Amino acid sequence: MKQRLSVEEYEAGVLSGNRSILARAITLVESTRAEDRDLAANLVQNLLPHTGRSTRIGITGVPGVGKSTFIESFGMYLLEQGKKVAVLAIDPSSQRGKGSILGDKTRMETLAGDKRAFIRPSPSGRSLGGVSAKTREAMLLCEAAGFDTILIETVGVGQSETAVRGMVDFFLLLMLAGAGDELQGIKKGIMEMADALLINKADGDNLRASKQARQHYLQALHLFPPNENGWYPKVELVSSTEKSGLKACWEMIEKYVDHTNRNGFWEKNRSEQRIQWLEENIHSLLGDLIQSNLKIQNLLKIHREGVKSGSISPLWLAQEVIKLIQTP
Ligand code: GDP
Repeated sequence: MKQRLSVEEYEAGVLSGNRSILARAITLVESTRAEDRDLAANLVQNLLPHTGRSTRIGITGVPGVGKSTFIESFGMYLLEQGKKVAVLAIDPSSQRGKGSILGDKTRMETLAGDKRAFIRPSPSGRSLGGVSAKTREAMLLCEAAGFDTILIETVGVGQSETAVRGMVDFFLLLMLAGAGDELQGIKKGIMEMADALLINKADGDNLRASKQARQHYLQALHLFPPNENGWYPKVELVSSTEKSGLKACWEMIEKYVDHTNRNGFWEKNRSEQRIQWLEENIHSLLGDLIQSNLKIQNLLKIHREGVKSGSISPLWLAQEVIKLIQTP
């Protein structure tokens, strides 16, 4: 195991765009070890002035819709436009239980091999559809390292879309023509969260059906109340394998950035997200505190059966737990 660096060393390494130090800094913020926590928190705090100047894009869709193929093609397109692209992606091993993304040569092969891009898989096991508890901090570190376009991939498993929506500026939902909405696990709530639907695999024999699907989704979106950002969700056709529709997709995102900067939503959304991050961090740290406090664990052990059988009130026990937190 490599030695931990000092906060200054991490800081200088990240700011200079050093990939291996960036990767290690992300590992540091993902660490649950008590001794890493302070270091990680200080590092993120110190780097904060260098963060925030990227376009954060969330990408979701059911397995097989073409997320990784899209990210590969779109990412390469963005690199050609001079963008600095970082991808925080799901590690398929967390779903399939084998190998890591780095060993999985077929996934985003070109992008992963391009020195201009940075790809970081979420650690398997601890991720919720690819969103780890520290995806945001990883995103901030990537920004401090100079990446101006961050793509965050998540697989449609319900909660993960809400988590990603809460950390990005623009949320893309990838879909397929022909597969029913139910089949695609597309809940109305997810469509409502999306700033754009991308109908992928709009190529070959599938092009006609994709055009029809576009009409269908445009009508469906029409029934939703307008978003508070004053943006009407768009529906675009792309082919990730033929690399068509990518330019239009990026232009749409640029329009969105411009639109929300003008109407103030951009900054409002970011401010609200920061407060949400604070609350989530407090909850998660409180959870850890409870887990690691022996007195509390003991108390819970003694009374757990009582709560189960109904003889002890959960409220009473919860209050006792809080009392133990208050009296060190
Ligand atoms: P993911 O599970 O959402 O990441 O999906 P993948 O990117 O692994 O793609 C699933 C399959 O769909 C692969 O066999 C891809 O080659 C194929 N695929 C992805 N995008 C397209 C596309 O635009 N057109 C066609 N024809 N096939 C695609």
